[in-house]
Amino acid sequence: MAADVLRRAYDAVVVGSGPNGLAAAVALARAGRAVLVVEGAEALGGGARTAALTLPGFRHDVCSTVHPLGVASPFFRTLPLAAHGLEWIHPPVAVAHPFDDGTAAVLEHSLTATARRLGADGAAYAALLGPLVRRWEPLYAEVLGPILHAPRHPALLGRFGVRALWPTTWLARRLFREEPARALFAGIAAHATLPFDRPPSAAFGLLLGVGGHGAGWPFARGGSGAIAAALVSYLRSLGGEVVTGRTVRSLEQLPRAKATLLDLTPRQFLGLGGAPLSASYRRQLARYRYGLGTFKVDWALDAPIPWRAAACRLAGTVHLGGTLDELVAERRSLWRGEPVARPLVLLTQPTLVDPSRAPEGKHIAWGYCHVPNASAVDMTARIEAQIERFAPGFRQRILARHVMDPAALQRHNPNLVGGDIGGGETTLKQLVFRPTVRPSPYTTPLPGVYLCSASTPPGGAVHGMCGYHAARAALGQSVSPRGA
Ligand SMILES: Cc1cc2nc3c(=O)[nH]c(=O)nc-3n(C[C@H](O)[C@H](O)[C@H](O)COP(=O)(O)OP(=O)(O)OC[C@H]3O[C@@H](n4cnc5c(N)ncnc54)[C@H](O)[C@@H]3O)c2cc1C
Repeated sequence: MAADVLRRAYDAVVVGSGPNGLAAAVALARAGRAVLVVEGAEALGGGARTAALTLPGFRHDVCSTVHPLGVASPFFRTLPLAAHGLEWIHPPVAVAHPFDDGTAAVLEHSLTATARRLGADGAAYAALLGPLVRRWEPLYAEVLGPILHAPRHPALLGRFGVRALWPTTWLARRLFREEPARALFAGIAAHATLPFDRPPSAAFGLLLGVGGHGAGWPFARGGSGAIAAALVSYLRSLGGEVVTGRTVRSLEQLPRAKATLLDLTPRQFLGLGGAPLSASYRRQLARYRYGLGTFKVDWALDAPIPWRAAACRLAGTVHLGGTLDELVAERRSLWRGEPVARPLVLLTQPTLVDPSRAPEGKHIAWGYCHVPNASAVDMTARIEAQIERFAPGFRQRILARHVMDPAALQRHNPNLVGGDIGGGETTLKQLVFRPTVRPSPYTTPLPGVYLCSASTPPGGAVHGMCGYHAARAALGQSVSPRGA
C-alpha cells in the first residue's frame, strides 16, 4: 500500500472497484464523505473492464458486456455518468433466439412489435409483460430496492411477484403454446442460471424481458470499461481517491476509516486477515453457495457472423440453445454436475453498433456457456459448434480467439469463485438471505465493516445497487435513490 495513502485517514475505505465497490464509493462521496477505493488488480472496474484480448485494435469485454440492469439501475440513473463519458448504444434488436429452421424469435424494444412476431402467443406475451413494461421504472425501483421494504407500488410488485415466483418451465408452458415464445422466455431466464423447474427462475426472464422493452439491452460505447471509467471519473470529481494493484489480505493493511466496505464474496471475507469473526458467523459464511461456473470465449472476426436467421444479424444478444425442451435438458444436466454436449450459448456482437471496437470492417463477438462450478472441461469446440449450427461458416471468419475457463476467470478476479459470475447462487433463500441471516445483509458482526458485492441483494449484474444499499447502511440511512 502506498505510504501516502496509508498515512491518511478516511471516512470510508472500499475494497474492490467492481461496479458495486464504485457505486458504494460514489454514494459515500456524494454524501460528503472522504473515500478511498483499494483495488487488487492493475485496472479498475472488476466485472466492467475492456481489454485487447485477441489482436491489436480489437476491444473485448473481459466480463460483462450487455447492460439491461445497468441502463435501468435506479442508482446509476441518478448519476451524471453521461457527462463522465458513458454512452449507451442500443442494437436494433435486443435479443434473438434462432431455431434450426432458420427462423428466430426476437425481443425488440417495442412490446407491440415483439408480440406481433410471436403469432399465436402474441396476446399472452403482451398480457404478461405489458402492464409491467408500462411501469418499468417503479418496478425496477421495487425489485432492485432494499430486500425488505414497504413497497411504494404494492399492486405492481404483487403483479410481478405472482408470476416471478413460478418456475420458468411452468410459466413458459402454461402461458405460451408455441416454441418461439417459450424458448425466447427461457433463454432470457437462463441468465440467472437456476434450473428451470425451480422457483423463482421465471423472475429473471420477467425482469430482463421488462427491461428489454423498458430501458433496452444496450452496450456501453467503447466497452463496459466505459461504465467503470465514468464511475471513477465522477468519484474523483467528488474528491474520492483510488489506488490499484493492492490486493488486500488483511483489514489491518487498510488505512484508518470509520467504515470499510468489502466488494468481496463470503469466501474471500472468510480468508481476510484481521477480521475476528465468531465461529457461528464463519459457519454461516462457509455455508454460502456458489452457482454454476462460466466458460467464456472472445473472438476477433474478419466479418459479421453469417446467421441463417436475418433477425440475428440485427441483434445485440443472441441465445443459442434451440427449443425449450433442449434448454430444460441442458439446465438439468448442468445442475447434476455434467458439462453438456450442446450448451446454451449467450452471445453478443457489440461491433454491429459500435465499430470503434475493431479495425475497419472487422468484428468482435463475446460468448459464454454455463458449466458446473470449477469445471475444467474445455467447452471451446462445443460453443463454436452451437454458433455454427445457427450460422454456418462462422468458423471461417475467426481471426483469433481468447478463452477463459472457470479457473482463468477466478484468476482474473477472485470474486468469480469457481467461475460463478453472479456472486453466488440465486435460489430464493439465497436471494433473501444474501449472504447470511442478519438484520441488514450489508452489515457484518465487525463494527464499521460492510459487505457491498453482488453477494448481497439484489445480486449479480452491473447495476451498482448492492454497493448503493451498502453505502446507505454505512451512512445509517435507508431512503431510496431520488426518483425511485
Ligand atoms: C464472464 C462474465 C460475463 C458477465 N456478463 C454480464 C453482462 O453481460 N451484464 C451484466 O450486467 N453483468 C454481467 N456479468 C456480471 C457482472 O460483471 C457482476 O455481477 C458484477 O461485476 C459484480 O460487481 P461487484 O462490484 O459485486 O464485483 P466485481 O465486479 O467482481 O468486482 C470485485 C473487485 O474486487 C477486486 N478484489 C477482489 N478481491 C480483492 C482484494 N482482496 N483486494 C483488493 N481488491 C480485490 C477485484 O479485482 C474486482 O475488481 C458478467 C460477469 C462475468 C465474469
